[in-house]
Amino acid sequence: MKIDKILEYQKVDMEFIKLEEDMRKSEEYQKYLAYQNERKRAVEEVIRLNSITEEAFSSFAGVDAQYQEAVKEIEELSKHVNDNAQDDELDYYSKQLDKYTTVIENYEKELSRLKAELGQIQSKFKAEMDSASKAGALEKSYADKFNKLRESKMAIAKELDVKKKAIAKDVDPQLMAIYLDARKRGKKPVFVPYNKEGHACACGIEVDTNIRDKMDAGVPYIECPNCGRIMYNK
Ligand SMILES: [Zn+2]
Repeated sequence: MKIDKILEYQKVDMEFIKLEEDMRKSEEYQKYLAYQNERKRAVEEVIRLNSITEEAFSSFAGVDAQYQEAVKEIEELSKHVNDNAQDDELDYYSKQLDKYTTVIENYEKELSRLKAELGQIQSKFKAEMDSASKAGALEKSYADKFNKLRESKMAIAKELDVKKKAIAKDVDPQLMAIYLDARKRGKKPVFVPYNKEGHACACGIEVDTNIRDKMDAGVPYIECPNCGRIMYNK
Protein backbone atom coordinates (compact mmCIF):
# COMPACT_ATOMS: atom_id res chain seq x y z
CA MET A 1 0.00 0.00 0.00
CA LYS A 2 1.05 3.57 -0.81
CA ILE A 3 0.91 4.63 2.82
CA ASP A 4 3.25 1.92 4.12
CA LYS A 5 6.42 3.79 3.18
CA ILE A 6 5.46 7.01 4.92
CA LEU A 7 4.55 4.97 8.01
CA GLU A 8 7.97 3.40 7.88
CA TYR A 9 9.49 6.86 7.53
CA GLN A 10 7.40 8.12 10.44
CA LYS A 11 8.58 5.26 12.66
CA VAL A 12 12.22 6.26 12.17
CA ASP A 13 11.37 9.95 12.46
CA MET A 14 9.66 9.29 15.80
CA GLU A 15 12.82 7.61 17.08
CA PHE A 16 14.72 10.71 16.01
CA ILE A 17 12.19 12.95 17.79
CA LYS A 18 12.49 10.85 20.94
CA LEU A 19 16.25 11.19 20.84
CA GLU A 20 15.92 14.98 20.61
CA GLU A 21 13.36 15.07 23.42
CA ASP A 22 15.55 12.93 25.66
CA MET A 23 18.38 15.39 25.08
CA ARG A 24 16.20 18.36 25.96
CA LYS A 25 14.95 16.63 29.12
CA SER A 26 18.46 15.52 30.16
CA GLU A 27 19.81 16.76 33.49
CA GLU A 28 22.79 18.25 31.65
CA TYR A 29 20.60 20.42 29.42
CA GLN A 30 18.10 21.39 32.14
CA LYS A 31 20.88 22.44 34.52
CA TYR A 32 22.63 24.31 31.74
CA LEU A 33 19.41 26.30 31.14
CA ALA A 34 18.83 26.89 34.87
CA TYR A 35 22.35 28.25 35.42
CA GLN A 36 22.12 30.33 32.28
CA ASN A 37 18.91 31.90 33.61
CA GLU A 38 20.52 32.50 36.99
CA ARG A 39 23.52 34.21 35.38
CA LYS A 40 21.27 36.39 33.21
CA ARG A 41 19.15 37.34 36.22
CA ALA A 42 22.24 38.30 38.26
CA VAL A 43 23.71 40.32 35.39
CA GLU A 44 20.41 42.18 34.95
CA GLU A 45 20.38 42.88 38.68
CA VAL A 46 23.93 44.28 38.49
CA ILE A 47 22.82 46.57 35.65
CA ARG A 48 19.78 47.66 37.68
CA LEU A 49 21.94 48.40 40.75
CA ASN A 50 24.27 50.41 38.56
CA SER A 51 21.44 52.59 37.33
CA ILE A 52 20.16 53.06 40.92
CA THR A 53 23.66 54.27 41.84
CA GLU A 54 23.62 56.75 38.98
CA GLU A 55 20.18 58.00 40.04
CA ALA A 56 21.32 58.41 43.65
CA PHE A 57 24.33 60.50 42.55
CA SER A 58 22.29 62.61 40.17
CA SER A 59 19.66 63.38 42.83
CA PHE A 60 22.45 64.31 45.23
CA ALA A 61 23.95 66.67 42.64
CA GLY A 62 21.09 69.16 43.27
CA VAL A 63 21.74 69.18 47.04
CA ASP A 64 25.46 69.56 46.38
CA ALA A 65 24.87 72.56 44.06
CA GLN A 66 22.79 74.26 46.78
CA TYR A 67 25.56 73.64 49.28
CA GLN A 68 28.29 75.04 47.00
CA GLU A 69 26.13 78.12 46.37
CA ALA A 70 25.66 78.63 50.13
CA VAL A 71 29.42 78.37 50.75
CA LYS A 72 30.04 81.13 48.17
CA GLU A 73 27.34 83.33 49.66
CA ILE A 74 28.74 82.92 53.18
CA GLU A 75 32.15 84.01 51.90
CA GLU A 76 30.57 87.07 50.22
CA LEU A 77 28.55 87.90 53.28
CA SER A 78 31.53 87.75 55.63
CA LYS A 79 33.37 90.31 53.45
CA HIS A 80 30.58 92.83 54.09
CA VAL A 81 30.24 92.32 57.82
CA ASN A 82 32.14 95.00 59.67
CA ASP A 83 32.32 96.66 63.08
CA ASN A 84 29.96 99.42 62.06
CA ALA A 85 27.09 97.19 61.08
CA GLN A 86 23.68 98.44 62.13
CA ASP A 87 21.07 96.35 63.97
CA ASP A 88 18.95 95.81 60.86
CA GLU A 89 22.04 94.69 58.94
CA LEU A 90 22.97 92.28 61.72
CA ASP A 91 19.42 90.95 61.69
CA TYR A 92 19.74 90.36 57.93
CA TYR A 93 23.08 88.53 58.40
CA SER A 94 21.59 86.43 61.15
CA LYS A 95 18.65 85.39 58.92
CA GLN A 96 20.99 84.60 56.04
CA LEU A 97 23.16 82.45 58.33
CA ASP A 98 20.06 80.56 59.48
CA LYS A 99 19.22 79.86 55.86
CA TYR A 100 22.75 78.59 55.16
CA THR A 101 22.66 76.45 58.29
CA THR A 102 19.52 74.75 56.94
CA VAL A 103 21.25 74.18 53.59
CA ILE A 104 24.32 72.69 55.31
CA GLU A 105 22.19 70.48 57.57
CA ASN A 106 20.27 69.24 54.56
CA TYR A 107 23.55 68.59 52.75
CA GLU A 108 24.87 66.54 55.67
CA LYS A 109 21.62 64.61 55.99
CA GLU A 110 21.53 63.82 52.26
CA LEU A 111 25.20 62.92 52.20
CA SER A 112 24.81 60.40 55.01
CA ARG A 113 21.68 59.02 53.32
CA LEU A 114 23.66 58.65 50.08
CA LYS A 115 26.50 56.90 51.93
CA ALA A 116 24.07 54.46 53.55
CA GLU A 117 22.36 53.77 50.22
CA LEU A 118 25.67 53.22 48.44
CA GLY A 119 26.77 50.86 51.20
CA GLN A 120 23.65 48.76 50.71
CA ILE A 121 24.01 48.80 46.94
CA GLN A 122 27.65 47.80 47.20
CA SER A 123 26.93 44.69 49.27
CA LYS A 124 24.08 43.67 46.92
CA PHE A 125 26.34 44.39 43.96
CA LYS A 126 29.05 42.13 45.36
CA ALA A 127 26.56 39.32 46.06
CA GLU A 128 25.10 39.53 42.54
CA MET A 129 28.55 39.61 40.93
CA ASP A 130 29.42 36.46 42.90
CA SER A 131 26.16 34.80 41.79
CA ALA A 132 26.77 35.74 38.16
CA SER A 133 30.29 34.39 38.24
CA LYS A 134 29.36 31.11 40.00
CA ALA A 135 26.34 30.57 37.72
CA GLY A 136 28.48 31.39 34.68
CA ALA A 137 31.05 28.75 35.63
CA LEU A 138 28.35 26.11 36.21
CA GLU A 139 26.59 27.10 32.98
CA LYS A 140 29.80 26.48 31.08
CA SER A 141 30.45 23.20 32.87
CA TYR A 142 26.93 21.90 32.06
CA ALA A 143 27.26 23.14 28.48
CA ASP A 144 30.40 21.01 28.18
CA LYS A 145 28.64 18.02 29.75
CA PHE A 146 25.68 18.48 27.43
CA ASN A 147 27.94 18.71 24.38
CA LYS A 148 29.57 15.44 25.40
CA LEU A 149 26.16 13.83 25.77
CA ARG A 150 25.16 15.15 22.34
CA GLU A 151 28.34 13.85 20.78
CA SER A 152 27.71 10.43 22.33
CA LYS A 153 24.28 10.32 20.66
CA MET A 154 25.56 11.67 17.36
CA ALA A 155 26.23 8.22 15.89
CA ILE A 156 22.63 7.13 16.56
CA ALA A 157 21.28 10.39 15.15
CA LYS A 158 23.32 9.99 11.97
CA GLU A 159 22.21 6.39 11.60
CA LEU A 160 18.55 7.43 11.90
CA ASP A 161 19.11 10.22 9.42
CA VAL A 162 20.62 7.85 6.88
CA LYS A 163 17.65 5.50 7.34
CA LYS A 164 15.17 8.37 6.92
CA LYS A 165 16.81 9.54 3.70
CA ALA A 166 16.85 6.03 2.29
CA ILE A 167 13.15 5.50 3.03
CA ALA A 168 12.22 9.01 1.83
CA LYS A 169 13.26 8.08 -1.72
CA ASP A 170 10.38 5.62 -1.90
CA VAL A 171 7.76 7.78 -0.19
CA ASP A 172 5.01 9.26 -2.34
CA PRO A 173 5.90 13.00 -2.68
CA GLN A 174 2.35 14.08 -1.91
CA LEU A 175 2.33 12.06 1.32
CA MET A 176 5.74 13.43 2.23
CA ALA A 177 4.45 16.98 1.75
CA ILE A 178 1.45 16.24 3.98
CA TYR A 179 3.76 14.68 6.55
CA LEU A 180 6.25 17.56 6.64
CA ASP A 181 3.48 20.14 6.81
CA ALA A 182 1.85 18.41 9.79
CA ARG A 183 5.25 18.01 11.49
CA LYS A 184 5.70 21.77 11.19
CA ARG A 185 2.39 22.12 13.00
CA GLY A 186 3.84 20.01 15.81
CA LYS A 187 2.04 16.72 15.09
CA LYS A 188 3.95 13.79 16.60
CA PRO A 189 3.01 11.37 15.12
CA VAL A 190 1.34 12.67 11.97
CA PHE A 191 -0.30 9.50 10.67
CA VAL A 192 -2.56 7.66 13.09
CA PRO A 193 -4.66 4.55 12.40
CA TYR A 194 -8.38 5.03 12.03
CA ASN A 195 -10.43 2.99 14.50
CA LYS A 196 -13.02 1.37 12.25
CA GLU A 197 -15.12 -0.12 15.05
CA GLY A 198 -15.22 3.04 17.15
CA HIS A 199 -15.36 5.34 14.08
CA ALA A 200 -12.73 7.38 15.84
CA CYS A 201 -9.38 9.06 15.43
CA ALA A 202 -6.48 8.21 17.74
CA CYS A 203 -7.21 11.47 19.61
CA GLY A 204 -10.46 9.85 20.77
CA ILE A 205 -12.93 11.93 18.79
CA GLU A 206 -15.72 10.02 17.05
CA VAL A 207 -15.86 11.31 13.49
CA ASP A 208 -19.07 12.41 11.77
CA THR A 209 -20.89 10.20 9.24
CA ASN A 210 -19.39 12.03 6.27
CA ILE A 211 -15.84 11.03 7.23
CA ARG A 212 -17.00 7.63 8.46
CA ASP A 213 -18.61 6.84 5.09
CA LYS A 214 -15.45 7.86 3.21
CA MET A 215 -13.19 5.81 5.48
CA ASP A 216 -15.55 2.82 5.17
CA ALA A 217 -15.48 3.24 1.40
CA GLY A 218 -11.71 2.77 1.54
CA VAL A 219 -10.35 6.33 1.23
CA PRO A 220 -6.69 5.87 2.26
CA TYR A 221 -6.45 8.87 4.61
CA ILE A 222 -8.35 11.93 5.89
CA GLU A 223 -7.24 14.75 8.18
CA CYS A 224 -8.91 14.58 11.59
CA PRO A 225 -11.03 17.73 12.07
CA ASN A 226 -10.29 17.61 15.80
CA CYS A 227 -6.52 17.11 16.15
CA GLY A 228 -5.25 17.78 12.62
CA ARG A 229 -3.46 14.42 12.41
CA ILE A 230 -3.94 12.23 9.36
CA MET A 231 -6.13 9.20 9.98
CA TYR A 232 -5.38 6.25 7.72
CA ASN A 233 -7.19 3.05 6.98
CA LYS A 234 -5.28 0.04 8.30
ZN1 LIG B 1 -7.78 13.30 15.86
